[in-house]
Amino acid sequence: MSVLYNRVALIGLGLIAGSMAHAMRRAGLAGEIVGTARSAETRAIAAEIDLCDRITDTMAEAVAGADLVVLAVPVGAMAAVAAEIAPHLAKGATVTDVGSVKQAVVDAVGPHLPAHVHFVPGHPLAGTEYSGPHSGFAELFENRYVLLTPQPDTDTTATARLRALWEGCGALVEEMEPERHDLVLAVTSHAPHLIAYTMVGVADDLRRVTDQEVIKYSATGFRDFTRIAASDPTMWRDVFLSNKEATLEILGRFTEELFALQRAIRKGDGDHLHAYFTRTRAIRRGIIEAGQDTDAPNFGRTVTKKEDKS
Ligand code: NAP
Repeated sequence: MSVLYNRVALIGLGLIAGSMAHAMRRAGLAGEIVGTARSAETRAIAAEIDLCDRITDTMAEAVAGADLVVLAVPVGAMAAVAAEIAPHLAKGATVTDVGSVKQAVVDAVGPHLPAHVHFVPGHPLAGTEYSGPHSGFAELFENRYVLLTPQPDTDTTATARLRALWEGCGALVEEMEPERHDLVLAVTSHAPHLIAYTMVGVADDLRRVTDQEVIKYSATGFRDFTRIAASDPTMWRDVFLSNKEATLEILGRFTEELFALQRAIRKGDGDHLHAYFTRTRAIRRGIIEAGQDTDAPNFGRTVTKKEDKS
């Protein structure tokens, strides 16, 4: 792969920016990778593990002369970061972000940016429950979707170059309207996270179930909720605060369906339950056929002797 940007500035050095640094290096997509983070501690760790070619103390130094600037901080911090970097952005630079919500980022960042830069918001649909500068890895984006949400008047060459960068990192890239993105993600990611947080919270509240039992028998499904519910609290607080309407709409629908299932259980309506579960099983098959998850039983985990196989 050839160099697509002479200097890439990463603002925030956590899971996503760290993974981008690894992936860009592996494919030789950036002439120089410059990084900065809010805390001296993160900057020191990033320097120690050689995450970037150069670590700067300030955002102004990081973006100076960069032809791509990536905002990789929590959604609620995007506006302040945009305001701080705006006077230092190079003419013709592309500014992108990796935030999990798009309309709120467009509204928060757009007004701060000077007319001489291209703003192409983005969201890689890839992640883990880990965060911080140690957590990134080059393979994170492989065969994962990245959704770009450029405005109709965004320079198409700038969008195409960013697309090529993500493809060089192994991702599948598509474009979408920010509002549509937020509704789709409310269904596929935001509401499921809230449900996982709730389920783990409920188990924690249930004093009849001792902690030991919850942990011991967690392989029966609960374990996958706990993984999701271990996701970064700041990031997810900001996701719900900034994708309020779409998440509330999906949660409203969820509650209605939950009540219907509750009624079916109470009335002993097995046909309703069976039809419902048949439909959901087909959705799982679709996800596997689209290459977005493994077909292996138990998500490909090796079952140890001690583990419950159900
Ligand atoms: P992360 O590992 O927690 O890293 C966040 C980075 O942002 C850290 O370097 C942190 O600096 C910095 N930061 C935090 N609060 C800040 C503030 N108020 N002002 C300036 N910098 C601040 O997070 P991440 O998982 O990479 O997530 C970054 C972005 O990617 C978020 O917008 C998130 O929605 C999005 N995203 C995440 C995932 C995922 O699964 N994790 C997936 C797709 C997209 P310090 O270390 O110095 O505190």
